[in-house]
Formats: sequence, C-alpha cells, structure tokens
Amino acid sequence: MTSITPILVHIPAYSQLEGALTYKSEMSLDPGILVRVPLGTRTMLGIVWDTLQSTTLPINSDPPQYQIKDVKEVLSGLSPLSNKWRELVTFSAQYYQRSLGEVALAALPPQLKNISSKQLVRKLIKITKPNKAIGKEFITDSRHVLTHEQSQALTKINTLNGPFLLFGSTGSGKTEVYLQAAQVALDKNPQAQILVMVPEINLTPQLEARFLARFSSVYGIDSVVSMHSEMSAGQRFKSWLSAHTGKARIVLGTRMAIFASIPQLAMIIVDEEHDPSYKQQEGARYSARDLAVYRGRLENAKVILGSATPSLESWHHSQEDNHLARYTRISMPSRIGEDAQLPIVRRVDMNHQPKNCLFSPPLLKAIQQRIDKGEQSLIFLNRRGYAPILCCTACEWKSNCPHCSAYRVFHKVDKTLRCHHCGLSQRVPKSCPICGNPDITTVGKGTEKLEEHLSELLSHIRRPDSKNSEYPDGEPIRIIRIDADSTKLKGELAQKLTHVHEGNIDILVGTQMITKGHDFRNITLVAAINPDASLFSSDFRAPERLFSLLMQAAGRGGRNAAIRSTSEMWVQTLYPQHPLFEALKKHDFSSFARQQLTEREQAAMPPFSFQAIVRAEAHSQEIAQKFLIAASLACEEAPSWKSILEKVTLFPAVPMAVARVANVERAQMLIESPSRAHLQHFLSDWKAILHQTKKQAPGKGLIKWAIDVDPLLI
Ligand code: ADP
Ligand code: ZN
Ligand code: ZN
Repeated sequence: MTSITPILVHIPAYSQLEGALTYKSEMSLDPGILVRVPLGTRTMLGIVWDTLQSTTLPINSDPPQYQIKDVKEVLSGLSPLSNKWRELVTFSAQYYQRSLGEVALAALPPQLKNISSKQLVRKLIKITKPNKAIGKEFITDSRHVLTHEQSQALTKINTLNGPFLLFGSTGSGKTEVYLQAAQVALDKNPQAQILVMVPEINLTPQLEARFLARFSSVYGIDSVVSMHSEMSAGQRFKSWLSAHTGKARIVLGTRMAIFASIPQLAMIIVDEEHDPSYKQQEGARYSARDLAVYRGRLENAKVILGSATPSLESWHHSQEDNHLARYTRISMPSRIGEDAQLPIVRRVDMNHQPKNCLFSPPLLKAIQQRIDKGEQSLIFLNRRGYAPILCCTACEWKSNCPHCSAYRVFHKVDKTLRCHHCGLSQRVPKSCPICGNPDITTVGKGTEKLEEHLSELLSHIRRPDSKNSEYPDGEPIRIIRIDADSTKLKGELAQKLTHVHEGNIDILVGTQMITKGHDFRNITLVAAINPDASLFSSDFRAPERLFSLLMQAAGRGGRNAAIRSTSEMWVQTLYPQHPLFEALKKHDFSSFARQQLTEREQAAMPPFSFQAIVRAEAHSQEIAQKFLIAASLACEEAPSWKSILEKVTLFPAVPMAVARVANVERAQMLIESPSRAHLQHFLSDWKAILHQTKKQAPGKGLIKWAIDVDPLLI
C-alpha cells in the first residue's frame, strides 16, 4: 500500500513555502527518517515530517492537478531524527521567522546530501566500531579537589533543575565545575550525552583539550567529538554521526552544534555565554545560547550558562529580585590559588599625556618593567590594519571604498587599501587620485601600526638573560601580532599562541581576538589602548560589550599563581571617571550590570522589551526604505491590525550603520514590544505582508528582505 508522506526539503530562504511537501512511498515512513526525493529536475535530501505539525502549516502549495511523486530512496541505515530534535527545529523556525525546510536541512551536515544509502551504512559500521585503545601520547588529567565555592556550585547543579547561570570570575575554576558536573551526568546514565558549547573553537583550544583529557581516558578516544566550521566536511560528518548514534558522549562545538542530533542529551554547557558569536548573524539567524535554554527544557537536560561577565539578559533572568527570574544564579567570586587576586586596574588619563601619543609614557615604562622581569604584556586595540583612513594633505580625498559607505583601511605589510566590508583590495596609490599630490598620510591607528610603533619605541630594550635576569641577553625584544590578518593561514594562530605560551614572546599585540578564553600563564600586564569609542556609541549594547571585553582581557593576566599578585590591567582613556571604568577598577560586574539595567529599564530597552529588525537590500537606499514603509503602511492602514499594533511599535525605516556594502544599499526597521508573545504574533502575521509587498514590486530593484529576531547589533 502506498502512503502519502509529508517531507521537508531545503527550499530557498525567501520562498513563501513554509511547511513540508507531499510524496508517495511504498511503505509508511516514520517521522525523522531521511529520504531522497525529486524536486523539479533535482533530487534533494528530505526529512519525513510529522503529519500533524505539517497540516497546521501550509503543507502543500502545489496546484491540485500536480502529481504526487514517489520518494526515491530511503536512507534506512540511519535511525530517525528524534521528536525532540524536530520540535527544536520547529520552534526555531517559528521563533526566528524562517521556513521549516531551511532550518531543518541547514541543521544537517552537508555530506548527507550526496551520500548513498550504501555508503552511509558503511560509514555507520565504521563509526560504531568499539573505541580505539588510548595511545600513549595521550595526556590524562586528574580531577582537582574542589574549592568550597566550586563544591557549592556543583551541589546546586546536582540538586536543582536550573537553568544555571554560573557567574564565576576569570580563573575561578568554572571549567572544573563543568567537568565534574558532566561527570555526574555521565555516571548517572551510561548512555547520557553532554553538549558543550564554546564561542569560537580555535580561540579556546584549552577547553577542548581539557574535556578530551578528562573523558577520553575514561570513555575512549572517540567519545569526545568536535563540531565547528573550521573542520572539514568529512570530519564534521563523522562527528555528527557519532553524536547521532550515541557513540559520542561529549559533543563540543560552536553555535552550529546546538542543532546536532544528540538523542540522549542530558546536559548543555554554554561557556562564555555572553559571547556575541553565539548569535548567527547571517542566513537563518538564531541565538545558540537562547536555543540551548529552550532545548534544555524540551529534552529535560540541565543547562549551565557560564561567564565572568554574563549577558545582561542572563543576568536579569537570574536576579533574585526579579519575580520572573528563570535561572538559578551561582556565584564563584574567588580566583583559584592562595591569595590569588584579580589584576589591579590602572586608568591613564590621556588628557594629561603628550598629545596624540599612542602609548602614554607611564604605560611604556610599565611594559619595560615587565620585559625586565621576563614577563609578558598583552596590548589590544579593536582595529586591525595599519591605519583606518588614508587621506590627501592637499585636497579632500580620503580612502573611501567605491562600493561601500565605508573607508578602506590601509594595510602597510602589502601596501594595500582594503575594505573590511566587501573585501575590495587595491594597491595604495602613489599620489592622490584626485589632485596628484604625492603627500598622502594616515589618520588613526590599527594593530599593525601599534606593533610597528611599539617596536620603535622599545628598540633600545634588550631581553633579560633567561638564567640571570639581571643581565640582558642582548637580543631585541620580541613582539607578535594576532588579529584576523596575521592568522589567515591554517595553523598560524596555533603556532603564534604556542610561541606566547612558551615564553618566546615579550609582547602580544592584537584585536579582541586575543582577549578571549586563553589561559596565558605568563602575562602580567594587559593594556587597552583606546577603548573610548564604545562609551558613546549609538548601539545601546556597546558599553556591555566593552565592559565584558575589558574584564575578560584583565582576566588573561595573572593566571600563574607564582606571579599573579603583581598583575595589572591598564586602560588609556580621556574619561577616567566614567562609571564603566569605576566599576572595572573594582572588578564589580554587579554594580555595572545594575547601572546598565536601570538605564535600560527606564528606556524600555531589552531585556525589558523585545526587538526585531527587518532589513531590506536594494539597488538604491530609497527602494530599500520604500519597501519597509510600504509593508508597515499595509498593516497600519488595515483595521484588522489595530489591536496588535497597539502592542508593538514600528520605528521609521533608516539606512543601516554601513548603508552600502558591495554596491547594495541596506535599510532597516526596528520593531519593539514589551511582550515577546505579541512581537512573535505580529511578526508571523506580518511576514505574509512582507512577501506580498515584495511581489508587488517585481523588478524594481529590491533584492531581498530578512527578519532578525532579538538582534544583537542595531
Ligand atoms: P575559569 O574557566 O573560571 O576561568 P579555569 O577553570 O580555567 O577557570 O581554572 C583556572 C585554573 O585553576 C586552571 O589552571 C585550573 O586547572 C585550576 N583549578 C581549577 N580548579 C582547581 C582546584 N579546585 N584546585 C586547584 N586548581 C584548580
Ligand atoms: Zn588630493
Ligand atoms: Zn567595500
């Protein structure tokens, strides 16, 4: 008997088709089974979907005379994707306003698209073979005896339901708590699986190494798998299968791992939960951290969000005086180690330093002292390249990008002007392209200039003798730069980090890339060269990001108990009295958060309101804005929309901060509501109008539109 089956396939992101398509099959197929089906002239990977759910969505917009086609192949070797997994995908599609097919198929490893049933079976046999013996080269690591704070944290995690916000200073031993909490969950159920999420895997190799060391010695070398975009498609597929079959007990990954099929999920750990990289910023946008909380509830898995500087959302959700608090906050304020202290914060008032100096004399002196003692310094600046702008001294010419509303940045190493938005890269002109004046000069500074300038300033300094630090060994000091430019090649970052760890480097210069996660043992001075821009940004989240960046950066210093009592965090600023720096000086996240949340509450900003942004891309700014205005008028003028529009606010259409990228003009409209439910309700209804509005303007230069729910950048 043939049965009619709803099947999800990947359909273009902007198609209005939101649900499953229908196909015929000889046998009845359970939901979650993977199949291959014809679509037009192509054969596509599909997932058998639930009849019930699909009927609530527009199942089939095929015309009635359309002949229902047969399923071509069933990937029968693979067990079906679970109900819970399908629920996660369904929720995610609804909440983030994307089509089910897009979210579901994007959540599967690309290799599944082409593999045959036979090949798949072969792969599965290989994957599910018993664990390889553990090689000698393998480091094992032993549990620490927990400190009082750690064991209290662990007890809470073991006895309460969570979700937990583990608010622990940098170096307070959060990782050890994760490891032991995971161990408890694994001990409880011999099938249990744990998902560990990290912001960017290449920046946190140590966390990965510690999970590997701790668990692969117990459960076998294949029991810990990784999932992130730096891996090859083949490796990722292997990890995915390993998680899906239950072979992997620990799945460690970046935001994409939130959609991994993990049938026996018992715990989700989100390390550095405040990190913006948990938000997918392209295509189907989602917040992996928020989905982790949802998935935890769905699968009855404990969720631990950890950070020294939690997102203000998570902080708010864990406030004791917030009657709607949903998270249990666990604090670990102390650093591990006897009289371990957080670095002393020193603010340099740049109003009293030589004008336009990059490094203030006191900072320079402090860096020299560290070199003399054989200790390392970390200097960061949030701008890569040499100088942000090149300009002519005679006329108005500046290094604008011809395709974007942004300046091209001068990169001295290869003498290019590069646009960081569209990637355009050209050789620096010998003279001004407008007036021919050969005198072109730089404005501003980037990491490249910082590195160059610092090595000039310190060219007379010699490294201390490694055996006798009283006498310099005569070698010039060593500076290394770590940013997106200097780590493009595979392995380059790891190699540079090794140099730092081995003490071959005196000064590490870089962007915020170097402030995250690393456990630098020998860095005792951290300096932020020019953090002021974020104090007065139009983005209301800028201070939150700056504070967390500075606290995290400070946390990189002084992680070695032997020397940590002297470690320092330097901040060069024109506003030393700013409350943000006052709170930083006291390492007082709570007071910073309190002050920010008060401001946000008064201004009805998140987390006290909920936001979404609709962005439109078009050949002209006017077309992009007109589209947004037309779509908003279409509901504002209709009486049936009156009641919902009382609960949401539509702001005017405006150009995006960088309005033009690669010759495409971009506009956006902010939508806000005091209630998440009302915002959701509005968006899902409004989507039809957006589709309609686009249809009514065919060929008029509108390229596409997209909704971003809970946007991070406004
Ligand atoms: P965090 O993740 O909170 O920044 P880590 O987990 O990296 O901190 O811990 C900092 C250091 O302290 C690590 O080197 C870790 O091995 C060590 N450590 C953690 N817990 C203990 C403990 N209970 N006793 C001794 N050392 C510990
Ligand atoms: Zn000129
Ligand atoms: Zn450009």
